[in-house]
Amino acid sequence: MGDASAGERIAAVTSGIKRAARLARRDPGEIRLIAVSKGQPTEAILPLIRAGQIDFGESKVQEAQRKWPSLLKGDLVLHLVGRLQSNKARAAVGLFDVIHSVDRAGLVDALADAMARERRRPDCFIQVNLGDEPQKGGCTVSELPRLVKRCAEAELPLVGLMCVPPMDLEPAPWFALLAKLARRDRLEGLSMGMSVGYETAVMIGATHVRVGTALFGERV
Ligand SMILES: *Cc1c(COP(=O)(O)O)cnc(C)c1O
Repeated sequence: MGDASAGERIAAVTSGIKRAARLARRDPGEIRLIAVSKGQPTEAILPLIRAGQIDFGESKVQEAQRKWPSLLKGDLVLHLVGRLQSNKARAAVGLFDVIHSVDRAGLVDALADAMARERRRPDCFIQVNLGDEPQKGGCTVSELPRLVKRCAEAELPLVGLMCVPPMDLEPAPWFALLAKLARRDRLEGLSMGMSVGYETAVMIGATHVRVGTALFGERV
């Protein structure tokens, strides 16, 4: 990261997003940059908040519970981008504004129950495990239609699909596949693209890019 300030790093990623959006004839205002602060201490997060960053992402509920209550203020938006256990659904609903990792029927039910109890309704994305990778969360492509239906039955506020594509292959075809699945199910949100590949994701229709390393440097 060299000595670039938080503001400069945000500006660099934002200009990459704008350029990709322009090339794809998209409105850059449709795309939200989520700063993924997992593994980062609050001292690393504060400069980004001061520089005006609004959306932040964490991958673990417990880590977020430790870090965020003292940081949250005003219009900050907190996203859960990592795997969620059903027994943490209520804590997640209480803390996060958006949940990107809904991936099974049991979790849909746990979230619906938690939303009723907490009287909060975070937007939800279904995570799809496009490459059928056993170590990753996400439903399979064939499970997706049933899970979308389950979300509708449970009245979960489902806004889109999310993916973390296989690392060893070009990401673009996976992004295109996720976009196609979202169109089929008439979902507008597409949470895809990380530090490597966010411009590509924007060209293919991402509405939310999740960027960690390019904004914070390497995780400790
Ligand atoms: C860590 C993480 C990111 C950010 O990854 P970088 O490569 O650091 O940009 C995005 N999405 C998810 C789900 C992650 O776990």
